Amino acid sequence: MHRSPRLAAAILFGLGLVVLAVWHAGQLATRNQLQAAAARAETALGLTKNALAAYLARHEVAPQLLAELEDIRRLVADPANPDRIAAINAMLEAKNDRLQSSDIYIMDMTGTTIAASNHRRRDSFVGQNFSYRPYFFDAANGFLTRFYALGTTSGVRGYYFSAPVRAPDGAIAGVIAVKVEIDSVEQSWRGNEYTIFVTDPEGIVFMASDPALRYAALLPLTPERLTRTTASRRYSDAQLHEITFRPQAGQGVMLAQLAVDGQPREQVVTAQHMPDIGWTVHVLIDSAGARAEARVVTVALALLLCVAGFGVLVLLQRRARVAERLALQARAKADLEQRVIERTADLARVNSHLEQEITERVATEAALRAAQANLVRVGKLAALGQMSAALSHEINQPLAAARNYADSAAILIDRGEPARARENMGHILALIDRMSAIGRHLRNAARKPKERLQPVDLATLLTETRIILAGRLASARADLVIDITPGFPAVMAGTTRLQQVLVNLISNACDAVEGHQDRRILLTAHLQDGRARIAVRDHGPGVAPGIAERIFDPFFTTKGPGAGLGLGLSITYNIVRDFGGEITLRAADPGAEFILSLAPAPAMDAAA
Ligand code: ADP
Repeated sequence: MHRSPRLAAAILFGLGLVVLAVWHAGQLATRNQLQAAAARAETALGLTKNALAAYLARHEVAPQLLAELEDIRRLVADPANPDRIAAINAMLEAKNDRLQSSDIYIMDMTGTTIAASNHRRRDSFVGQNFSYRPYFFDAANGFLTRFYALGTTSGVRGYYFSAPVRAPDGAIAGVIAVKVEIDSVEQSWRGNEYTIFVTDPEGIVFMASDPALRYAALLPLTPERLTRTTASRRYSDAQLHEITFRPQAGQGVMLAQLAVDGQPREQVVTAQHMPDIGWTVHVLIDSAGARAEARVVTVALALLLCVAGFGVLVLLQRRARVAERLALQARAKADLEQRVIERTADLARVNSHLEQEITERVATEAALRAAQANLVRVGKLAALGQMSAALSHEINQPLAAARNYADSAAILIDRGEPARARENMGHILALIDRMSAIGRHLRNAARKPKERLQPVDLATLLTETRIILAGRLASARADLVIDITPGFPAVMAGTTRLQQVLVNLISNACDAVEGHQDRRILLTAHLQDGRARIAVRDHGPGVAPGIAERIFDPFFTTKGPGAGLGLGLSITYNIVRDFGGEITLRAADPGAEFILSLAPAPAMDAAA
């Protein structure tokens, strides 16, 4: 929007320039056309003047030559001789025809015409007196003269040439005049674009292509001028009238207003003086044509400039549109860059936020780890506390019992009952054995196995285990039935520890079936879901549902004092877990079934 006033100012300025240029061009074109018209008029003027001068020159010497003729000289010496007059009349008539002049006539010294070429006409000059005419009295005084005038007798305008006629004795006895009519000259000026007229020294139009201009006075008809003209009766009775004709310089030519055919029109004026006869020939040309042509040129130029201006406008507009489009693109680019900057800033913000979160997570994780480690420590302490409590109970009881037995053994010895004292000693030794058994078990459980896991062949191991358990199986009168699926693989385990596990489970089964009807203990082994599954099942009383989840805890036992330590299953549980396996209890109704799930050894090792 802010460009509009500037654009409008530029357009106004441009328009102003165009108008100025067109105006200037119009002036130039007008000047050129007017000058061309003036040049044409100048040419016509030259031709007109020359033709007129030539026409007059043809007759100039005629009176002089005629005045020399003997017959004419005799006539003026004897003007009353009718024969002579008749002869001269005839001669003048013939000469007039030959010379194509208007009239030839001879006057005596009084100015009265004595012979004339027009002697036959009713308005013949013969007898007319022309003493008032300058051509008469000048010639009568011995000069060759010329005079232009409107014929007083004929009413025909003419140019008069005259010469004195000397009588044979040499004295001036008469005047011969030759009148040349100029109508025909005037006639030839008509029918073209020029207005041609001739003025005399008084500024009176004497000849004109336009008859209306005839006898017009271009200069004011002052009394002196009028007197000079009327004295010679140059224009006879013709009515003189003033017209306004003031040529003025303009556009490099002379211009004047002049009424032609009743219409006042501007004319380009050219004029030339004829010093010999005192005439001024004017050739005028109407400026309308020149001005019209100049206008056409101007209009054409204006149109051309308009078209050019329009072209420039279109070009400017197109450039403006291109500039606008570029500006739009630049703005869009800037917007895009701004958005990219903002997005980048957003991303950087999000990034730093993320980094902060990550830092927080790391810190949280570290805190969690610390908390976990703390919990582990606390858990270990709790386990240690629990175990210490159980252990102190397990140790304190036999210790208290052993003390009682020792006290009473001392009394029995004092009483002299050594047999009973020895019995007490036996009890004490049994208690000490129990305590050392606990110690041994704990030591075994606590010892980190140095054994590496390796493929263990179950059948071979069971053969040894059966030998170890033979005494216990016999005392419980239990029957161990082993059923290993053919192709059962070796299992990944430690030989000693797996044997310990089997001994524990089979011992417990012996305890369970002892005194029962069905004393079979079934040991089965087969592959299930890619795991080696070894199950020990008895037909004893089973595990009561209420205690099933506590039987793997250390020191949990349902067996009477001295019968069980409650460590067997807890140790078994830990060993199996060390093998990467697990142990579960299943209620078998009747009886209990403990199931081991172990990793089978890879096939190559099994083959080896
Ligand atoms: P202990 O044998 O010294 O009691 P264990 O840890 O070996 O210690 O066993 C814990 C308890 O699990 C036993 O006291 C018993 O109540 C129960 N138990 C273990 N094996 C059997 C089984 N085959 N039948 C029934 N109960 C069993």
